[in-house]
Amino acid sequence: MREYAPEAIRVILPGKCYRFEQVTARSESMFYQVEGLAVGKHITFSDLKGVITNFANQLYGEGHAMRFRKSYFPFTEPSVEVDIACVLCSGKGCSICKHTGWLEILGAGMVHPTVLQYGGYDPAEYSGFAFGMGPERIALLKYGIDDIRYFYSNDVRFLDRIG
Ligand SMILES: [Zn+2]
Repeated sequence: MREYAPEAIRVILPGKCYRFEQVTARSESMFYQVEGLAVGKHITFSDLKGVITNFANQLYGEGHAMRFRKSYFPFTEPSVEVDIACVLCSGKGCSICKHTGWLEILGAGMVHPTVLQYGGYDPAEYSGFAFGMGPERIALLKYGIDDIRYFYSNDVRFLDRIG
C-alpha cells in the first residue's frame, strides 16, 4: 500500500506460513496462505461478498450453499468468516464438519481505517477489502482429502486422488 498509494490496488499474495502447532490430520506447522487485497474509491462490503461468492461458485459449483459469519480480525472492520455447506454430508452434519453442516474456507473483511491510514490512504476517501485463505484447506474440502499431511508426504499416489 505504501508503495502504490494513492493508486488503486488489486493484489493476490501467495506465500508460506509457519506456526507453532501440533501436527494433526487437520493442522500443519507449515502451510500456504493466499491473501487478497483491494483498495480504491467506493469499494463496499458488497464488492467483498461478490468476489468471495464468485470464487466459491467457481470452486465448489454454482449454488453450493455458503454463508458469511461475523468474526473479528485486528486489521479489518467489519470482519467475517466464510463457510460452505459441508462437501461430505451436504449440510446434514458429520464428523468432518463437527456436526454443524458447515466448513470454514476463509476469513475476510473491510480494511480497517487505521490500516488504510498507515498505508498512505485517506480513509474518508478510500476503502477496501481483504481476505486470507489456506489453499491446502480449500483443496481438502474440494477433493474430500482426509489428512492435510498428504500434501507434504512425498507420495505420488496422492496425486491420483486429486487428478
Ligand atoms: Zn459434514
